[in-house]
Order: sequence, then C-alpha cells, then structure tokens
Amino acid sequence: MKPFSYERAATPAAAAAAVAGRPGARFIAGGTNLLDLMKLEIEAPAHLVDIGGLDLDRIEPTDDGGLRIGALVSNTALASDARIRRDYGVISRAIVAGASGQLRNKASTAGNLLQRTRCPYFYDTNQACNKRRPGSGCAALGGYSRQLAIIGTSEACIATYPGDMAVAMRVLDARIETVDAAAKTRTIGIEDFHVLPGKTPHVETVLAPGELITAVTLPKPLGGTHVYQKVRDRASYAFALVSVAAVIQRDGSGRVAIGGIAPKPWRNAAGDAALPNGEKAVAAALLAGAKPTKDNEFKLLLTERAIGAALSKGRAS
Ligand code: SF4
Repeated sequence: MKPFSYERAATPAAAAAAVAGRPGARFIAGGTNLLDLMKLEIEAPAHLVDIGGLDLDRIEPTDDGGLRIGALVSNTALASDARIRRDYGVISRAIVAGASGQLRNKASTAGNLLQRTRCPYFYDTNQACNKRRPGSGCAALGGYSRQLAIIGTSEACIATYPGDMAVAMRVLDARIETVDAAAKTRTIGIEDFHVLPGKTPHVETVLAPGELITAVTLPKPLGGTHVYQKVRDRASYAFALVSVAAVIQRDGSGRVAIGGIAPKPWRNAAGDAALPNGEKAVAAALLAGAKPTKDNEFKLLLTERAIGAALSKGRAS
C-alpha cells in the first residue's frame, strides 16, 4: 500500500472542500472496497478524508411519505430497518443477497452505490485496463469475459456495475442527495447517477470532484410484491451473473431492473410495460441492442429465466 495522509471531517461541506481542494484525495467511510483497492495499489489516494464521524447515519421519514436514508447508514442497519422491510422489501432482499454479514456491518449506503467493478483485469495490474489506467486498452476484450456486461458497453470497456442494493434502488426510483465544496446541494435521480463507459470508463458517476453523497431518498411506498432474484456461481458471497429487482402489482403490472449485465443498474420503460406479457417480452425489451461476447452470451437466456423466476415469485405472493 502506498503512503497517504489522513484527516477526519467535521461537517459534510468541510469533507467536500477537503477532497475538492487536494488532488488525489478520496473520501473513506466503511472502506470495504477502497481499502482492498489500495492494498492492491489499484487505487493510491494521496490523502483520505474520513467521513465516518459525520451525522449521516439515520433513516427518517420524508414529507411526501417516503424515507431519507443517511449516507452512512450501514447495509446491515438498512436491511433490518422495520420500515424498509415492510415497505421497500426489495432493498432488504438485495442487501442480504450481497457480501457477508461482516462486510454489511461496515459498508455504508453511499459506499455501496460507489463500489467499483469486479472485472478480473481491473484487479490485475499487469493487464491493460482503460478504467484503471485511461488509454491503456482493455484486456477483457478478447480475454475471458464470462462475468462481464452484455449491454451498455463500449469499445473501451465491458465491465459491469457489481452491486445489488443499487439495482433495488433503481426499481424504486431512489434519489441521491449530495453536497459540494461550496456547500451547494443537489439531488440526482438514480437513473442518471451511474454513467455508461463510452470512451471514458474511468468516469463511473456524475459526481463532481469532491461532491459528497449525504443521503438517498425513497419515494412513498409502491405496494405490490417485492422480489430480488439473484443468480450467481455459488450460494453466498458472490457477485451476480444476473439479478432481477422487481415490484409486481396484483394486476400484473410493475417495475423491473436488472443487475450483473451492464455498467449500471439496467431498467427501461419498455421493460416495465412488458411485464404483464411475461419474461420473454420483458427480456426482449430490456436487452434490445445487447452485444454479448462469446463467453457471456448465455446471459441473454439467463436474464430471461431470472425474470421468469422473479415473476413467478411475485405472482405467487
Ligand atoms: Fe478494464 Fe473495463 Fe476492460 Fe475490465 S472491461 S479490463 S474494467 S476497461
């Protein structure tokens, strides 16, 4: 691990100013992803701004009947909150399907959104990777790409966004609150938060340098049956090959978002509209324009089947 300096922030705006004012500075909270990346020298921040002591660890009702989740609420606290389990069950199920109990105790809501890809070539510093070193190439193209994305990719990068919680938040239309170095706040819809790789795969979100996530808000409950269907190579502690977050209403309508197949949680209006017509129609709507590799074209059918399993669970409840 490379040497770095460290400070604790006193307020969210002070944290934002500390990172914005120092090239190579990064926020740290739970550190469950960043510390691993630092140990492997994939990331080498010159300075860490610890936000762990900030007053951002509560889940509170909003005026419009939703919930505001502080950026530092742990994954364990979020998944076990009675309001989340009752009204936003897809979030609880997605979180519990990810990582391990120990990691969920440390991982924060904001950090979960910002976790980086698990593309094996990103983690191997002997390999070319445009995300790790812009302009160096992409070893996954022409390499082994079974785990990687089938849609939303570019000629520069075919990595997936690896998380589960964000897929559930995408299906709920969560919104992300931030503050910048000038103490200016803004709210970003989760649909716009993660960006596709294009020619700049090292840019993964719309956050400006030093912009700090302070909370995630959920709109008022949707009702319906909440399902999170995750398909992976082993039963626990593995990233999704394909995951499906769905909210199914009694009349068969609903919403669906997919994880494990794209550089961001994947959802579109056509996929939602096709729900009453079954998994084939939903998959066709969501996967239009997919460009799988020979190693991961199985994800096309796997996505359809995972959607089918999610719909069966939703209808059976
Ligand atoms: Fe790097 Fe993306 Fe290529 Fe993986 S797919 S090696 S993360 S550029």
